Amino acid sequence: MSPFAPEIKFSNRRRTIGLTVERDRQLVVHAPTGTSNETIQTILHQKRHWIQEKLAHPQKYPVAPATPTVRPGSSIYFLGRTHLLQTAPVPVASLHFDGHTFTLGAALLPKANALVQTWLRQQAQAVIKPRVERFAKSLGVTYQRIQLLDLKYRWGSCTANAALLFNWRLIQAPSTVINYIIVHELAHLLIPDHSPAFWNVVAVQLPLYERAKNWLRENGALLEELG
Ligand SMILES: [Zn+2]
Repeated sequence: MSPFAPEIKFSNRRRTIGLTVERDRQLVVHAPTGTSNETIQTILHQKRHWIQEKLAHPQKYPVAPATPTVRPGSSIYFLGRTHLLQTAPVPVASLHFDGHTFTLGAALLPKANALVQTWLRQQAQAVIKPRVERFAKSLGVTYQRIQLLDLKYRWGSCTANAALLFNWRLIQAPSTVINYIIVHELAHLLIPDHSPAFWNVVAVQLPLYERAKNWLRENGALLEELG
């Protein structure tokens, strides 16, 4: 038997077994309906180092994400800076950003949260994916795919089969912090633990990575409040 006590969720729609570790350190096995216990135990054994690393991962959120509330006068975090959201009395077709201020047509105010989130997610796609490719090349690693998700308690994650998951909210952090999370997850493709060798790999790419770590420690929860 596995030393972990996983919660097992069966689904008709799954083709493969996936593992996740929740913030409360609950290991969850997502398996196709009908998967035998023996198969699950074999996977848990094969992935035991990955599971142990996830259970000890330092990039967990200090608090669960809050529901974003955006209203005129709100500040929106984007690439580490805050920008005022204002409403325009004239019709504005969508959310507009001029590099300093966000403007939203007053009629769209009820949809403000969704519009801001959609805009930030689009920016996250445009900024994060090319950087992952660039750092992956620099580190000489290959990954299966990149996904930007609404990760509940993490900025980034690397799955047992080399898929890289990033929280779209990362686009709200300064550029150097985005780079740090990207390099951190990519470095795990070389070294799964947080040994001195791991931090050495990170430092070669980003000599000032400690600053990014400190920034996250001090400001990580703040980003959540503003969605
Ligand atoms: Zn890590």
